[in-house]
Amino acid sequence: MSKSGKSSGAIGLSRRNFLIRASALSMVTGGVEMTAPALAKAAIKTNAKVVIVGSGLGGIAIANRLKRDLDGVKITIVDRKEIHNYQPGYTLVATGIWPVDKVADRNSDLQPAGIEWVQEMATEFNPEANFITTDSGRKIPYDFLLVATGLHLDFDKIEGMDIKHIGTNGLASVYPSPQAASATWQAMDTFRQKGGEAVMTLPGTPMKCAGAPLKMTFMLDDRLRQAGKRDNSKITFHSAGSNIFGVPVINENVLSRWSKLGIETQYKSQLTAIDIGGRRATFIDPSTKDKTEVPYDFIHVVPPMRAPDAIKNSSLSYQDGPMASGGWLEVDKFSLQHTRFPNVFGIGDINGTPRGKTAATVKKSAPIVAQNIIDAIEGKVLSGDRFDGYTSCPLLLREGSAMLLEFDYAGKLTPSIPFVEPLQDSYFAWLMKYRFLKPAYISVAKGRV
Ligand SMILES: Cc1cc2nc3c(=O)[nH]c(=O)nc-3n(C[C@H](O)[C@H](O)[C@H](O)COP(=O)(O)OP(=O)(O)OC[C@H]3O[C@@H](n4cnc5c(N)ncnc54)[C@H](O)[C@@H]3O)c2cc1C
Repeated sequence: MSKSGKSSGAIGLSRRNFLIRASALSMVTGGVEMTAPALAKAAIKTNAKVVIVGSGLGGIAIANRLKRDLDGVKITIVDRKEIHNYQPGYTLVATGIWPVDKVADRNSDLQPAGIEWVQEMATEFNPEANFITTDSGRKIPYDFLLVATGLHLDFDKIEGMDIKHIGTNGLASVYPSPQAASATWQAMDTFRQKGGEAVMTLPGTPMKCAGAPLKMTFMLDDRLRQAGKRDNSKITFHSAGSNIFGVPVINENVLSRWSKLGIETQYKSQLTAIDIGGRRATFIDPSTKDKTEVPYDFIHVVPPMRAPDAIKNSSLSYQDGPMASGGWLEVDKFSLQHTRFPNVFGIGDINGTPRGKTAATVKKSAPIVAQNIIDAIEGKVLSGDRFDGYTSCPLLLREGSAMLLEFDYAGKLTPSIPFVEPLQDSYFAWLMKYRFLKPAYISVAKGRV
């Protein structure tokens, strides 16, 4: 290091900037440096009207890119939500690492200037006639539509489940909101004072951050050990399917770790009902329909996930095939253009693609989708790179250690940081999650990477 504290390496970065860049390369991979300025090129003139439904990470990232690259474009974002939640931080809140206020920003601070923001929810999509309808009955026409609604957490499919009770009676779920994540930590913290029977669940549907249920399991084990209560506790992970993770090499790695930690697994065990006051959960074998009732002291509930109703009930969703029951958006998995309505594109969790429901997926696919929308506006052949399905998250293993998961549509590992070995414990991967991914996420939202 030089006297100035700057790295003396050829790249000449401060240590902090270097770490943020490395984080950006992974959450965030694709070989694009986080702080690299976009090549200055003249904005393309257009008077096209683009409607973006959803002001989450995907919607905002594309809005910022289009606003920068198109001169005269009219962008309307439709979403009632004012608070922008940094969902990858929820697992840190739910395991007592981060305070809850670190995961909330304002959408208005992330959206580009000069757009129209309709603070209503879309209730109907009419791609045949190029308009959407909002819950006030307003019809909004478009030339091009980006669907960025994220997904719906289907807690209603679990009889007796009520997210209002998270934090009480040993009931936990990291998924619904920052408040639920915080209440989940209360439930975990109370449980670890005494220990007992812990039940962890995994649904059989596609889901966002499929690593999160595993992170919660590793961290519960760690928190019990720290409290000296692991020996009088049992942790059982119930999966509705026949594995705990869809990528075989990761599945095997995690199972081998769990076997050493004494975490048990039950397969074909789908949570269908819960008695919150009585602390009993009902599981069904999806093939035989056999029922089992399990008492618990602590339960982490992961709901089935599907497309929001407005998409599921529209002609934009898959009409047949394996993606139809969840109502996922029918897009070409490489271009993320709708397969039947060429002026419609999708980004993020709503896409009916084989994998890819992480913020890292949005990072890698946003430049591709933005380029393809611009090409479509210009009437050109789509020239964006083929999206490879990049999916990534740092899997928390214990306090101070994580394993960076990165893979593509084919389930092939796609490591992006030379000094972070895939499938190995890494303090750096922990540090990325703890400190550097949030700034990287904000850069993605602002369309800078
Ligand atoms: C617990 C947890 C842990 C995670 N950990 C990681 C991680 O470590 N790494 C990682 O990369 N990713 C992680 N993720 C996943 C990541 O947060 C999501 O994949 C990402 O936020 C998806 O962005 P999106 O834009 O598709 O959806 P979202 O960011 O969810 O935004 C969707 C938006 O659409 C709006 N909307 C919905 N329906 C309508 C409608 N009808 N009309 C108008 N607007 C609508 C919503 O209000 C919302 O604002 C995690 C997620 C969770 C929940």
